[in-house]
Amino acid sequence: MTTAQTQAQAQTLPKHYTELCDLMHAKGTLGSVMALVSWDQETYMPAGGAKARADQSSLLARLMHGQATNPRIGELLDQCQADNDLNDPNSEHGPNIREMRRDYDKATKLPSDLVANLAKAQSQAQDIWKVARTNNDFPSFIPALTTVMDLTKEKASCLMSDEHNELYDALLGEYEPGSTADEIEAVFTPLRDRLSAFIAELKDNGTPPKVDFLHQEIAVEKQHAFGKAVTAAFGFDYSKGRLDTTTHPFCSGFAAGDTRMTTRYSPNNFPDAIGSTMHECGHGLYEQGLPKATGLFGTPLTSAISLGIHESQSRMWENMVGRSKAFWTWALPLANKHFDGAFKDIDLDTFTKAMNTATPSFIRVESDESTYNLHVMLRFELERAMLRGDLAIKDLPEAWNTKFKDFLGLDVPDDATGCLQDVHWSFGLVGYFPTYTLGNLNAAQMWETINEQIPDLDTQIAAGEFGALLKWTRENIHQHGRRYTASETIERATGKPLGADPLMRHLESRVRPAYGL
Ligand code: ZN
Repeated sequence: MTTAQTQAQAQTLPKHYTELCDLMHAKGTLGSVMALVSWDQETYMPAGGAKARADQSSLLARLMHGQATNPRIGELLDQCQADNDLNDPNSEHGPNIREMRRDYDKATKLPSDLVANLAKAQSQAQDIWKVARTNNDFPSFIPALTTVMDLTKEKASCLMSDEHNELYDALLGEYEPGSTADEIEAVFTPLRDRLSAFIAELKDNGTPPKVDFLHQEIAVEKQHAFGKAVTAAFGFDYSKGRLDTTTHPFCSGFAAGDTRMTTRYSPNNFPDAIGSTMHECGHGLYEQGLPKATGLFGTPLTSAISLGIHESQSRMWENMVGRSKAFWTWALPLANKHFDGAFKDIDLDTFTKAMNTATPSFIRVESDESTYNLHVMLRFELERAMLRGDLAIKDLPEAWNTKFKDFLGLDVPDDATGCLQDVHWSFGLVGYFPTYTLGNLNAAQMWETINEQIPDLDTQIAAGEFGALLKWTRENIHQHGRRYTASETIERATGKPLGADPLMRHLESRVRPAYGL
């Protein structure tokens, strides 16, 4: 007997619901195998394993698609939705069924021809994009990008439902269910204007902090030990997880007792390593806090809400905690202990200021906490325009460069440093970028509420105590799985809908002093 059946019997739930949960359990289990295989590929797999791994991944992907589109799920969902006792939105089952329906409809709405064509076009476009970026040759990428965008539009048409106003919403729904482009625009536009003005003010009137000491050589093993000490203090349970090394850091929560974080190190870039480690730890704490140990594993109630909420957890630990003076009050002596006194001549104020720079630069993934959001908003506006047919792909470089000058005040020197820098569009990943800034917005808004509710939070953090903060995120975010949508979650947790003010207040309070303003 499966765990879901055991639990269901105790609660005398109907068979159509328990059978559905068992199918989800199997789907979640296969998904965790796929995640394990992907984690291994990015961490320990020898280069010689690539061919066999591609076969393994493709077989698993096919099996997973079969599970997600199993017609039996549709039949059981019909029975569950006709069962009034089960559909109480205030119960545990109502939201679970609602979200299972959302997933099933999404999985079954796309014709298999379209899925196959898109997969092929993405793989070709990705190869062409790599060469185009290396050669700074946007025109050579136009045909491939056009094909991917056309197929992505087709995909969006298939995914359209009553809750969507435009094609963009259907794609956004893949990552941020329930959100619309209009809602995002309403928050992004005022944030964009205020951020641009803020960055210009720093440039005109501020004095950039001294940062050279952050780039002295620190042995990678020592950085790893320090990262583990910090994340263990945050509350990451290393008896149920690991921290390993990769090229592009990520975190994967396989199951209740197994969450894998990854990070990257370079001897001369300590801030990058510790920032990535704290960031992935935020994702890891969320994964460890989801109620996966119940018989409902694999159902939406044990899964993360959206990328924007997942990202709020990572950004909170990386930025709100990890760049604060309170944190370094505790962590700087610890770093000196691990790094043989590398920062012993640097006082706390100087160190904290160096962690809070805001300087416009061309590459999104290398940008700082403040300017990062402008990179995201530029992409959001351009991809929405392309999807609406308001921007032809051939005109993308010019549109990119004009907006870049407008938002960040810089003249883009070439397309490799401009519109060719990200892999996302070659993959048809449209609607994905906004989730990064949604993460920052959510984190800042939660941070204000947390500080109101835990007035001595700074004192706790300065003493290396993170338990109250973790408890708040467990209670308000992690434990609910996908019971509430992202907007409901932020409103329940903070008492108001998502807005731009908390993020602006946060950035100004940290960055202004760093620039002597
Ligand atoms: Zn992240």
